[in-house]
Amino acid sequence: MNDYTPVIGLEIHLQLKTKSKMFSAAPNQQWQAQPNSMVNPVELGLPGALPVPNETAITWTQRFGLALGCSLNKISKFDRKNYFYPDLPKGYQISQYDQPFCYEGNLEITESVDKPKNIRIRRIHLEEDTGKSHHKNGSTYLDFNKAGTPLVEIVTEPDFANAEETSEFAKIIQHVARILDISDADMEKGHLRLEANISVKKPGEIELPNYRVEVKNINSFKFLRDAINHEIQRQKQMHEEGKIIPQQTRGWNELKGITVVQRDKEDAHDYRYFPEPDIPPFVFTDDEINQLRGGIPLMPWDIKKDLQSGGIREDFAHIIAYDQQKMSWWGTHNGDLSDKNKIASIIVNAKETEEVIQKINDLKAASTRQMLSDTELERLIQKVLTENPKAVQDIKDGKENAKKFLVGQVMKASKGSADPSSAQQILDTLTQ
Ligand code: ADP
Ligand code: MG
Repeated sequence: MNDYTPVIGLEIHLQLKTKSKMFSAAPNQQWQAQPNSMVNPVELGLPGALPVPNETAITWTQRFGLALGCSLNKISKFDRKNYFYPDLPKGYQISQYDQPFCYEGNLEITESVDKPKNIRIRRIHLEEDTGKSHHKNGSTYLDFNKAGTPLVEIVTEPDFANAEETSEFAKIIQHVARILDISDADMEKGHLRLEANISVKKPGEIELPNYRVEVKNINSFKFLRDAINHEIQRQKQMHEEGKIIPQQTRGWNELKGITVVQRDKEDAHDYRYFPEPDIPPFVFTDDEINQLRGGIPLMPWDIKKDLQSGGIREDFAHIIAYDQQKMSWWGTHNGDLSDKNKIASIIVNAKETEEVIQKINDLKAASTRQMLSDTELERLIQKVLTENPKAVQDIKDGKENAKKFLVGQVMKASKGSADPSSAQQILDTLTQ
C-alpha cells in the first residue's frame, strides 16, 4: 500500500481580537460573557439593521496577508453566502467570494522535512463568525455572543503530503497572528480552528483525485495530525477494496479516534453567493498598500536569517525565531555573554525564565572566576595524590578510570577554579 500519495489542503479560521464586531458596534468579547449579552440587531438579523464594516479588521486581514507574502486585491468586496443554520439568523453569512482581500501567498515550512518546502496560500478572506448552539436536555439553546466576530479564513493549495507538514504550517500561522497581535490564536478558546481536506492518489495517479474529504472544526494540532493520519488510512483501505470514496464533510471523534460522516459536501453554487448589497466594494491605492507593507514587522523567517548572519547556528536560530517565548528571552538576554551561541543554546533548552537567568548567571560567574595558576594547581594536585594513595596505585595498575576520579577530586578541592584540561595534563606527568 506504499505507493498511495496523500494530498492535503488546509482551511484555517482565525478570530480577530478587535474591540467591536465585524459589522456592528457590539463588543467583541464572547469569552465567559453572559449568553446573548454581546449582541446587536445587526448580528441578530433584525429587519432594517445595516452592517457597517470594521476598518481595523480589514486592515489586520491585509497586514496578515502581506506578512504571508500575499498580493492584495485593489478592488475587494463582501458577498452573501446563503445557507440555513439555527445560529445564523440572517440566513446568510457575510463572507467574500471572488474578490477576497488577499490572494496567492507563500509560507515555507522547514521543521518537519529535510529541506524547506513552500506551501502556496490560495487566498485569505474576511467573514463573520456564527453564533453557538448548545444542546442540553433535548433542547437547543442559542448564544449569539460569538455571532459577528471578525473571522479570517486562510485557504491553502493542496500542497501538503503528510500530517506533520500541516501541523507545522498551522503553528506558524498561530505564531504570525500573535506577532502581528491581531488574535490570541488560542485554540482552546476557538480563536484558531482547523479544517483539513484530504484525498489519496492511487499508485501511478498523476492528477489530483476527483474527490476530497473535509474534516471540520479541529481544535488542536494533535487532533489535526490524528484526524489526517486516520483519514489517509481509511481512504487507502477503500482504494484497496476498489470502492469509490464519496466527497464528504466529516468530523473528528477524538474519543474513538476516527472520523465520522457529517454531510455530503456542498459545492460553491449551492450557496448562491451574490455581492452584499449593503456594503459597497472597497478600493485600495498602491500607496495605501505600500504603506501597509512598510509597517509589517520582521517575520520568523526574517529573524532566523538575521540570527544566522549574526553567527548563530541554524538549528538554534530556527528554534528561537519560531517561538515567541524564546524570542522574548533572546531579546532580553542576547547581550549577556560574548559567546552568543552559548546564550542561544541555553534559550533553546530552557523551559522557564528562571532557568535562562540561572544558567546565564552560572556561565558569567564561571568566566569571571579567578583561575588557579599552574604552580598553585600542581600543589593542589600533590595534596590530592597524597590523600588518595589507592587511586594512585590503581593508575599504576593501568586503571584509566582512577584518573577521571582524581581530576574530579582536584576540581572539587579547587572549588571549580581549576581548568580541568590543565589538571588532567599535570596529573598525567605526575603519575607517569
Ligand atoms: P472550493 O470548492 O471550496 O472552491 P477547492 O475544492 O478548490 O475549493 O479547495 C478547497 C480546499 O480543498 C483547499 O484547501 C484545497 O487546497 C483543498 N483541495 C482541493 N482539492 C483537493 C484534493 N483533491 N485533495 C485534498 N485537498 C484538496
Ligand atoms: Mg468560510
